[in-house]
Amino acid sequence: MSNFQLTAIGHIQSPYKQKFAIPRQPRLVPQAKAKLVFAADFNREEFVRGLDEFSHIWLLFRFHETADKGYSAMVRPPRLGGNERKGVFATRATFRPNAIGMSAVKLEGIEYKNGQLCLLLAGIDLLDGTPILDIKPYLPYSDAMIDATAGFADTRPETQMTVEYSPQVHEFIAQQTDYPELHDFISNVLKQDPRPAYKKQKEGEQSYGMTLYDFNIRWQVHDEHNYVTSIEKS
Ligand code: SAM
Repeated sequence: MSNFQLTAIGHIQSPYKQKFAIPRQPRLVPQAKAKLVFAADFNREEFVRGLDEFSHIWLLFRFHETADKGYSAMVRPPRLGGNERKGVFATRATFRPNAIGMSAVKLEGIEYKNGQLCLLLAGIDLLDGTPILDIKPYLPYSDAMIDATAGFADTRPETQMTVEYSPQVHEFIAQQTDYPELHDFISNVLKQDPRPAYKKQKEGEQSYGMTLYDFNIRWQVHDEHNYVTSIEKS
């Protein structure tokens, strides 16, 4: 058989409410916390018994937001500035056959509250609502390969971006005691420089917006500098 049907075992509740500004890989922004909420058929503690012995897990998921947009054989990795093309299977692109993604993330806890089983995760790169297809423990002795090479994606993407906040934004964030990591979360998302490659090449100051949790955040970019101009709760 070469056609399958897959069933989501759960979905992700994530602070990332739109694709824009989500980091390109997991663990680049450790403050990105999420819950994996199990679907009814898998909502039993037995399914995860022993998982708490692992610090990290693999998530296999569906790129549900873009899955119906198909795929092409070659894509333009952002890492190459959007100018060069590589085979889709040589990349982590979202537009791919079967639209399956994989992320190794930190497992911070397992919660069984009010009859609902959840995994508490950190460092995720997933959109809110992402359907989860499978979970596997991360095995350092086998999954970590210190002699691995990775061609055009060999190093962690670092930018020189700095982040500064207007005094009003600074004050607003300080008042959000339910979100103690909000400042660092926003800073680390912006340091990844979420702008599309073609925008980065444009001269001059530009304004951008994103939603994290239910905070609408706006910032401006000039050279390597992000300036957060406004934040409000929707
Ligand atoms: N770590 C995964 C992998 O290697 O398969 C994902 C890599 S992919 C380059 C990461 C991007 O996928 C994020 O920046 C975000 O824009 C996008 N993304 C995350 N969740 C998604 C979803 N459910 N549907 C579509 N795109 C999603």
